[in-house]
Amino acid sequence: TLRGKTALITGSTSGIGLGIARSLAAEGANLILNGFGDANEIAKIQADLHTEFGVDVGYHGADISKASEIVAMMSYATARAGGVDILVNNAGIQHVAAIEDFPVEKWDAIIAINLSSCFHTTRLALPYMKEKNWGRIINLASVHGLVASAQKSAYVAAKHGLIGLTKTTALETAQTGVTCNAICPGWVLTPLVQKQVDARAAKDNLSNEEAKKALLAEKQPSGEFVTPEQLGALAVFFCSDAATQIRGVAWNMDGGWVAQ
Ligand code: NAD
Repeated sequence: TLRGKTALITGSTSGIGLGIARSLAAEGANLILNGFGDANEIAKIQADLHTEFGVDVGYHGADISKASEIVAMMSYATARAGGVDILVNNAGIQHVAAIEDFPVEKWDAIIAINLSSCFHTTRLALPYMKEKNWGRIINLASVHGLVASAQKSAYVAAKHGLIGLTKTTALETAQTGVTCNAICPGWVLTPLVQKQVDARAAKDNLSNEEAKKALLAEKQPSGEFVTPEQLGALAVFFCSDAATQIRGVAWNMDGGWVAQ
């Protein structure tokens, strides 16, 4: 059980982050949510998680592309819960374009949100974890941290970088009760991916269902999406005692994507 522990999950107002938050709450962890969205909808997510799982649910709206807002978010966590026991670096964005057409500001935003933010949350979370001699840092990388796809230069670079950060963090904590690992999902049907489904449907004149099939057929041998619930279960496993000696891995859950 994770009762009494506090988990901060970046980008947990949607998609995979929300799925992982639910799984951790089901194990009893108190939550600090983060991410963008309508204030009323976020308040409802907080209230629903509190009612369903009986855990404390905080929220901080930091824009994690900005280091100063991450500092404020981590101070909020300290004030609310004493510190963060489980850090899930999940928030991420995507942009699809060839390198020579890639907007420079998109490159900067993807590196800031998908990579640099994880350095900032990690550096600010580690002192408390080391003091307690227990902690879990889980970085949501991607199959694109292990292999590349055309048109995704910034994303692939950031995710490969995040796996590097994961390994370094794991080494620096190797003789403590703190572990750091990365999860590398294949296609998961979230808003981030629905945009790519929509683009495929428009480009090839396909229905939504046909576009989803086409996307999966190209890369994911199972032909099925990975789900946020399945990723949540893996995150819970990384938090368990059984996973104490899992350190610095990049664990893919990808319907066979990287096996090819
Ligand atoms: P999503 O778009 O559904 O959710 C992203 C979340 O991040 C949202 O809560 C959003 O508000 C938040 N966010 C975005 N920019 C932010 C910022 N500047 N500051 C704070 N919060 C911000 O995306 P998702 O598909 O759930 O992706 C979650 C993570 O999983 C990302 O790191 C993504 O790269 C990774 N991933 C996704 C897939 C997939 O197929 N969906 C596959 C592999 C990896």
